[in-house]
Amino acid sequence: MTFDAATKMQFLYALRSKGVTDARVLTAMEQVDRAEYVKGTFADRAYEDMPLPIACGQTISQPSVVGLMTQALQINPRDKVLEIGTGSGYQAAILSKLARRVYTVDRYRRLVHAARAAFEANDITNITTFTADGSRGFEEQAPFDRILVTAAAEDPPGPLLAQLRVGGIMVLPVGQSDAVQSLIRVTRSESGFEYDELRAVRFVPLLEGLGQE
Ligand code: SAH
Repeated sequence: MTFDAATKMQFLYALRSKGVTDARVLTAMEQVDRAEYVKGTFADRAYEDMPLPIACGQTISQPSVVGLMTQALQINPRDKVLEIGTGSGYQAAILSKLARRVYTVDRYRRLVHAARAAFEANDITNITTFTADGSRGFEEQAPFDRILVTAAAEDPPGPLLAQLRVGGIMVLPVGQSDAVQSLIRVTRSESGFEYDELRAVRFVPLLEGLGQE
């Protein structure tokens, strides 16, 4: 599926009108073709600002929410970023344009394999993918400058807080899975953690253990 320049212009306009105003984030979102990450029945809707179904009963997030979360992370080019919830790989691809290295984890092996193939097909070489329960983080590579969680937990998982560098930022949705959740930003300083509430969102739940596929 290929899309014309006018469709992509409209997509960027929609992002701006929903508050994605950071120039670096917009450039990264212009560089990553969402159609490469939405496969199958919904491929023709890749440039609409809506979440879409992907394999394993999961969803690729709404582009404006991806943009707002990425913007809230305030990524620096030298940063090492951990993403929990690879899903389609779309969000990780955007992070890869802004950070030095991205580690992304999903509990479904099948999603991780498909995302890895998409990164290779698009010449993205600074993403490391793995299959695991991401709520435990990734001790071997900790601490991280930035952590992004794209599935909702009731509270920020302790291991992720512990693996955030002092001065680091974590963005995540918190709340019950079937209710409206809050997107929060956690900033770690020498003296502790500071929490800001950003907006209401709705994500699939952060589940324990590995998926079946
Ligand atoms: N960031 C994705 C959207 C993710 S949807 C994208 O850009 O497409 C949320 C993902 O979180 C799902 O793929 C789900 O399998 C994953 N997930 C849920 N709980 C998890 C856990 N404990 N560890 C790792 N991944 C998890």
